[in-house]
Amino acid sequence: MTMGVEKIYILPGGLLDIDRSIFLSSVDMGQMIKAPVYSVLLMHSQGPILIDLGLNPDGVKEPTRAWGARAKLIKPHLSEDDDVRERLKEVGLSVLDIKMVILTHMHWDHTGALRFFTHCPIVVQRDEHRFAFSPDPFISAPYMPNHFQHPVNYKLMDGDGLVAPGISVIKTPGHTPGHQSVLVRLADGKAYIFPGDAIPLMENLTRKIPLGNVCSAKQSFESLYRLEHLSHLLDATIIPSHDLAVFEKMDKVPEALA
Ligand SMILES: [Zn+2]
Repeated sequence: MTMGVEKIYILPGGLLDIDRSIFLSSVDMGQMIKAPVYSVLLMHSQGPILIDLGLNPDGVKEPTRAWGARAKLIKPHLSEDDDVRERLKEVGLSVLDIKMVILTHMHWDHTGALRFFTHCPIVVQRDEHRFAFSPDPFISAPYMPNHFQHPVNYKLMDGDGLVAPGISVIKTPGHTPGHQSVLVRLADGKAYIFPGDAIPLMENLTRKIPLGNVCSAKQSFESLYRLEHLSHLLDATIIPSHDLAVFEKMDKVPEALA
């Protein structure tokens, strides 16, 4: 029997209408683009693991209750199929089968289904957890307490670390103070980096542009270089978090990405 990560699935979680300059600092301000939201399912010999929990499924029927004023500012497009609980069924799993959740960060479009995962550890950086509960006011809007103030079992990380054989978190602050990326190595040796919002679009990497939406543009820039360096060193493929062109080309559940 192989140990570690056996398969990776992409679980689509809807689309956002968003200003391009939120992802690319000062670029094409006012130009709206479509940004996919998705979770990643890692089939692991110790049990299935999820990276990020997408948009709040309550928003399908009651967008204002789910997201407040943000429902109009960044308009989510979400169907009932985009609920992570429904996507898990496509590979024969339910919420209770999940052994661990890794959150890249605690923004609303990555924690939407968090309240359903009270049975397993939720791996997040201590700096992110602390900031989410008491954010600086000028960047507090993407942290929605109704998404993360639930009796979940947070497992707080202080920097980089191995969270399961073949799965490491790498602290990549900038977009948020405690943002982390996830490095995954499959049993066959192939490696992937899921950078979360440290690299939302491939253009952040190719044009070396930090995000518009940051707590620190300098840290965001440094994290970008750190991930690029790791991808070369480890021969790992980077999968940006909100890039429609990349998303459309990827195999999605029920097909495996790898
Ligand atoms: Zn974010």
